[in-house]
Amino acid sequence: MKFARRCRPGDKIQPSGYKVAIIGAGPAGLGAAGELICYGHEVHVYDMLPEPGGLLIFGIPEFRIPKNGVRRGVKELVELGVNFHLNTKVGVDIEFDEILREFDAILIATGTWKSRRLKVPGEDLQGVYHALEFIVDYHLYKYGYSSEEVRLSDRVIVIGGGLTAVDACYLAREAGADEVFIFYRRTREFAPAGVREFNKLEENGFKIYELTQPIEFIGEDGKLRYVKAIRMKLGEKDSSGRPKPVPIENSDFTIEASAVLVAAGEIATPPFIDEKYGIELTKWNTIKTDKEYKTTRKGVFAAGDVVTGPSLIGPALASGKKAALSIHKYLTTKEWKWVE
Ligand SMILES: Cc1cc2nc3c(=O)[nH]c(=O)nc-3n(C[C@H](O)[C@H](O)[C@H](O)COP(=O)(O)OP(=O)(O)OC[C@H]3O[C@@H](n4cnc5c(N)ncnc54)[C@H](O)[C@@H]3O)c2cc1C
Repeated sequence: MKFARRCRPGDKIQPSGYKVAIIGAGPAGLGAAGELICYGHEVHVYDMLPEPGGLLIFGIPEFRIPKNGVRRGVKELVELGVNFHLNTKVGVDIEFDEILREFDAILIATGTWKSRRLKVPGEDLQGVYHALEFIVDYHLYKYGYSSEEVRLSDRVIVIGGGLTAVDACYLAREAGADEVFIFYRRTREFAPAGVREFNKLEENGFKIYELTQPIEFIGEDGKLRYVKAIRMKLGEKDSSGRPKPVPIENSDFTIEASAVLVAAGEIATPPFIDEKYGIELTKWNTIKTDKEYKTTRKGVFAAGDVVTGPSLIGPALASGKKAALSIHKYLTTKEWKWVE
């Protein structure tokens, strides 16, 4: 995967004298780093994980995104002079204020790393995991960054209809589950992952329960034993433009499960809480930006899923690159005007 397109290692690049910090080394952050380094800026990328790549490395399974390609792209960035500060969570290991003080411009590209809760009884039982956390922990172990092996067994139930839910099914099997069921509250035609992914799951032996919603996780001695779920029917369209799933009375059933992976959606995670730094957030906790990726604080830009909410690699990478262009324009002209 190529992150730097305007220059190659070994090219003579005139240093601009400006320093740019990028928070988040996913596709948006890496795409921006590849542009900014070629403009001659000093680029520092901060990431809380032990390896750059974000969800490209720690989220999406190997069979979809071969990791070697991502690693080659990152290696090239290092050869071009991009500085990576890994295992460094902004807001915990280094304060956002410090970055504001030290850099001429900042790009926030921290993605969506908080899992939405289902808000059903028993969600805190041992054996009920948030799918994204399971996926990241699984990859941390798989790639040798953690000694804690993530193993599943017997029957695992995945809840959700997005790409996180679909990939959680494959990884649950890889992690040792004997059977993996997926519960989705609408039908596959309305699933964010799309009909094709659901059909592929079925072809690969995963059991799909459409129009099914968990209503309780039941445990014994603090550990999950059963999932109680209810059948749904499709009602009127809701605010998402899709038919609203409505529970069917007296249709609940209980099924044994050793683990549940909840993939009910992810929430944007800016590297600070509230709007402390004069950086406005939307009601979805995403960062508000103008057309040129400028936030409401001078010198601070944002790109990728932290702006749009959960999206796809292509748009995240493209937004990082476009944000880099805006950063370069700001550094060289000092112009700061909100563009609707
Ligand atoms: C399981 C799964 C499967 C997917 N499959 C596909 C697919 O097949 N095709 C597709 O196109 N898209 C897929 N996506 C979506 C795609 O991965 C994302 O849209 C894309 O990675 C977003 O890029 P980003 O750079 O905005 O954020 P991310 O990739 O999330 O990167 C954000 C980075 O910021 C870091 N970070 C967060 N907070 C801090 C902090 N406070 N300090 C320092 N670092 C921080 C994180 O460690 C991470 O490295 C999938 C997503 C998931 C979860």
